[in-house]
Amino acid sequence: MSDFNKNAPVYLSHCPNYDIPALVTQIKTAFEALKITDELIAGKRVLLKPNLVMAKKPEFGATSHPAFMEALTEVCFDLGAASVTLADSPGGPYNAAALALVYRTCGMDSVADKRMVLNQDFTWQTVNTPGVKLKSFHILTAVQQADVVIDVCKLKTHSLTGMSCAVKNLFGIIPGVEKFEMHSSYPQVPDFSEMLVDLAEYLVNSKTFIAVCDGVLSMEGNGPTHGVPKKTDLFLASRSPFALDVIAEHIMKLDGRIIHLDCAAKRGLVSRDYGDIPLLGQWDSVSCPQFDFQPPDTEAGKFLRNLPDFMGGHLAKLFETKPEILKNKCIGCGKCVTSCPMHTITIKQKKDGRKRAVIHRKDCIRCYCCQELCPIGAVGTKQNPLIKLIH
Ligand code: SF4
Ligand code: SF4
Repeated sequence: MSDFNKNAPVYLSHCPNYDIPALVTQIKTAFEALKITDELIAGKRVLLKPNLVMAKKPEFGATSHPAFMEALTEVCFDLGAASVTLADSPGGPYNAAALALVYRTCGMDSVADKRMVLNQDFTWQTVNTPGVKLKSFHILTAVQQADVVIDVCKLKTHSLTGMSCAVKNLFGIIPGVEKFEMHSSYPQVPDFSEMLVDLAEYLVNSKTFIAVCDGVLSMEGNGPTHGVPKKTDLFLASRSPFALDVIAEHIMKLDGRIIHLDCAAKRGLVSRDYGDIPLLGQWDSVSCPQFDFQPPDTEAGKFLRNLPDFMGGHLAKLFETKPEILKNKCIGCGKCVTSCPMHTITIKQKKDGRKRAVIHRKDCIRCYCCQELCPIGAVGTKQNPLIKLIH
């Protein structure tokens, strides 16, 4: 049962590494500060929702570290949890073969605390909700069956949404390739952001909700998968994904730039000013640490992409940053073809006999799913020289 509080505080502390006993202590201290007691957890089915966006080793900083899963499992069982299940739907197909690769590569199947169950149920349920964009959507059965959802996110930049933290991480409760359909249904970032807030609002209103951020090894640049790992040595936790994201936005020096937080604030789910959010732990809002996060390449000219047509939106599209196949890197594997919601990528055999992806830009909606899911980082961006100069 939900007890969502729009004035929920955020716990923030220094966390220098992935030492499991130290993480257990961090989490217990945070839970105590946030009043997350056995009353909330005892006898409940707990769901850990990590960020397993693709099959990447933890040292790349793109996916939640397995040490967090181990530590959280221990804390939840200490608080009397009936069960702890880990579930996520990465980009691409949602089936046993795809998940086995992701669990193995991300280190989830080596978590020593075998009381945690890796989800193997690939079904989903239909949910009806009075969202701004979503009235009915599919959600992983494992998530729907849980009493308590722990959103275990990363501190990362994101080519489409600017930042991936607690709210964006919840996109992974949508099964498999349906996520691509969401991109094609909501090609503009403001609409996509409203949809993300619909998902998060549904969860905070229907479950006991906790967000925990693995900000030990974060990511800057072309996140969520092909950015540069960045040591920030932070741990964040909150009962509100919106409050946690406002603080994360401030830590990354992105204040006021994340559209889904504007949407959440308009709905009265959070204050848009980080100074209004009570900060627990070793810092307050004045001393809160900040880092220079390199923004994604898509940031240049981003202001153009959501201009309405009457303000020159048609013309603006000419100047937008666009995805570009890096010809010398692409191996023609076709992963981008299946991940493109607009079906606008094909594989062509070139004169040298090599296969390479080709983007037909006319239908491209700049969702950057191709960049996110290319296994070798062979999708870059092409910036208009004028915009590059201005930026
Ligand atoms: S761009 Fe990446 S995903 Fe697409 S074919 Fe080339 S290597 Fe594969
Ligand atoms: S080409 Fe890439 S950015 Fe364009 S619609 Fe397809 S996946 Fe999205």
